[in-house]
Amino acid sequence: PHAVVIVGAGQAGVETAAALRARGFQGRVTLIGGEPPGPCHRPPLSKGYLTGDVPAADIALRPAEFFAAQDIDLLAGDRVVSIDRERHTVTLDSGLRVPYGALVLATGCRPRTLPVPGASLDGVSTLRGLADAEDLRRRLDGPPRRLVVVGAGFIGLEVAASARGLGHEVTVVEAQARALARALTPGMADRLVSEHRARGVRVLLNQEIAALHGDDEDRVHSVELNGGRRIDADLVVVGVGVLPDTALATAAELLVGDGVVVDERLRTSDPDVYAVGDCARFPSPHAGGRHIRLESVQNATDQAKCVAAALCGDGDGDGDGESAPYTAVPWFWSEQYALRLQIAGLTADHDETVTVGDRDSGRFSVFCFREGRLIGVESVNRPADHGIARRLLATGTDLSPDTVRQPGFDLKNLAR
Ligand code: FAD
Repeated sequence: PHAVVIVGAGQAGVETAAALRARGFQGRVTLIGGEPPGPCHRPPLSKGYLTGDVPAADIALRPAEFFAAQDIDLLAGDRVVSIDRERHTVTLDSGLRVPYGALVLATGCRPRTLPVPGASLDGVSTLRGLADAEDLRRRLDGPPRRLVVVGAGFIGLEVAASARGLGHEVTVVEAQARALARALTPGMADRLVSEHRARGVRVLLNQEIAALHGDDEDRVHSVELNGGRRIDADLVVVGVGVLPDTALATAAELLVGDGVVVDERLRTSDPDVYAVGDCARFPSPHAGGRHIRLESVQNATDQAKCVAAALCGDGDGDGDGESAPYTAVPWFWSEQYALRLQIAGLTADHDETVTVGDRDSGRFSVFCFREGRLIGVESVNRPADHGIARRLLATGTDLSPDTVRQPGFDLKNLAR
């Protein structure tokens, strides 16, 4: 294509534009969208940015000069309102029409809100963009407040850890019987929860929110659980997951279903339209070929590179002229207090785990197997395990549970 238009200037959109130029793409690259002041890293927003350890200057995904220097037309502050697939154009909020040869949807996700009375009271917020984080940081800057975090997912637990570190009184309310039930093995999730409790965070499991209550000025003052129990709150952060932003794709009659559905080269049901990052639902060899959606920096960045290769017509050397399919090993991280969690692979489908190291001291790894094959490793403060696990998963190297169970087993020896 002579012109690539990218919708959404988040992690996936910015990396797609950057990867196109890095591969020598000569055509026009237009990157549309983004929140002020410009494309930003989201991971610090629940971690170091809230605590003040990461300054605002380190939040930008690329320095402001980058886009002009790389000849990328960044139309920040505008949005795409519709796609005309027949004419190969997108229409922007400002009225501008931009033609495309290839279109990349990188529209990300939006936070789910709580479907209960009082969800829009002052002091109740979700956390996705820099503006949300700035607001929360301002509210946490001062004397101890009572914070209720709804949802014990990664963002909820990270906000809880950050706020607790700043001296606030924190309660986490989770509807399920376990924290991070979808994302982590029970052993790892329990270890994180016990750290929160040891630091003085109240973690309430199996508790649903019935309503949020406010004062005369519509400022939240308490959270009511199903069953009637009330918890006082000055602030409520809702971290109950996200929904892929598929509005444009749906309106353009592309195949959609919990994300924009793509093939192994990240093409949608229209061969001139691709989708990458949090909004894309793709077939993963790490999930037995099933279509999945991942919400991670790794996935956004690696999918961006995969699409850039496809758009540059870079073959993978097997002679059919097609670029390489997307097979990158998923990885993820989270930071809570002094625990740095890293996950290599997808561990959800495991049928056996072996734990190596010392859970109590907070340096251990959980090796996850399915039918005797390694599918992922969760580790805390063992970065070498994480790095080696990623390599083993990428090369499909076999590692049996029995090997890992041997006394004195150390992945580092295996890598030598
Ligand atoms: P986004 O970054 O959401 O970007 C999508 C952009 O598209 C948005 O700016 C949106 O406004 C824009 N857009 C949508 N529709 C339109 C339209 N019609 N026109 C123009 N623009 C549009 N991941 C990790 O791996 N590790 C972490 O520790 C981690 N921590 C996180 C902490 C927080 C608080 C959050 C919110 C996320 C975190 N993530 C983390 C997830 C990670 O940030 C996301 O997976 C990543 O940002 C996805 O990139 P994306 O480009 O697909 O989506």
